[in-house]
Amino acid sequence: MTAPELSFRYRLEAQPPRLGPGGITRGASVQQFPSSQGIAGVSMRLAPGGMREMHWHANAAEWAYVVSGNCRTTILDPDGSSAIDTFGPGDVWYFPRGWGHSIQGLGPHECHFILIFDNGDFSEDHTFSVTDWLAHTPRAALAQNLRVAPEDLAQLPRGEAYFALGPVPDDRSADATPRARPALTSRHRYPLHAQEPRRVPGGGTQRTVTVAEFPLSTTMAGSLLEIEPGAMRELHWHPNADEWQYYLEGSAEMVVFLAEGRVVVETFEAGDIGYAPMGSGHYIRNTGSGVLKVLVGFNNGHYQANDLSAWLRSNPPDVLATNLGLPRPAAEALTRQPGFLIPGP
Ligand code: MN
Ligand code: MN
Repeated sequence: MTAPELSFRYRLEAQPPRLGPGGITRGASVQQFPSSQGIAGVSMRLAPGGMREMHWHANAAEWAYVVSGNCRTTILDPDGSSAIDTFGPGDVWYFPRGWGHSIQGLGPHECHFILIFDNGDFSEDHTFSVTDWLAHTPRAALAQNLRVAPEDLAQLPRGEAYFALGPVPDDRSADATPRARPALTSRHRYPLHAQEPRRVPGGGTQRTVTVAEFPLSTTMAGSLLEIEPGAMRELHWHPNADEWQYYLEGSAEMVVFLAEGRVVVETFEAGDIGYAPMGSGHYIRNTGSGVLKVLVGFNNGHYQANDLSAWLRSNPPDVLATNLGLPRPAAEALTRQPGFLIPGP
């Protein structure tokens, strides 16, 4: 069981970053954020031309949301096909566990994106990078493999590069298309913000992408919630997934219910991350004066939520009156009330 004193908030953007040529990153796994046992996350920024080098993750799939700017990814499918995709604000990508990929900023400004991994024990810092691998491979074997003379490898980095800074990719050049399949594809890209949201007047909006809209994303789903001042995402729980949150804008309160009388109250500002374990009850309330924007990731391709209002509506008034000790008219009213995003008082 989760200890009652466990925190479900971590101030991600207040942490010292890892810096490299053209890149800045801040990450949180279960080591930094102990409650986040099922999902880890990273906030990364790439300058124009800045590259997160070619790498793969052995123990997690990667789901990402672009907050601002533009970037280009390369990815190799184990079936031998490959893809080069371009992403802008509001776009999502998904790289299955173990697939080799890279990310590069396109400019004209910095590109900021949030990476979410479906394993709390994941670490972006201890992933499998191409330079780490090649630098520690015996030079004669590497030269044989690449069919080059050993002296041609003199400029190979001596260890993991992690970030590398180069020219901004030119989408009009031949470099922008993979040799194996000369076409831009969007199999790895889903334009989440372009989606028509689920909208509640006075409450806000929700955009959700699951395996149904984005077939490659079999192990992860995500949501973008925009909640009006004073409104709340009502009390609910997710039967099939942990929930990881990145607070993009505004101020919020989340209360997590862990059974046996245990409830944890957390407050959030932009740049904080939050976590609600699978099956735990929780709500998010906008406590600020502007719209609250929260990016939410789930470690399941299917989105499931049980909302309190839907649960109440599904029960007859006599059950509610007995169970909750309510007068009959109040119990009847509960069976007619809409929910999901509840406007402020
Ligand atoms: Mn990655
Ligand atoms: Mn939730």
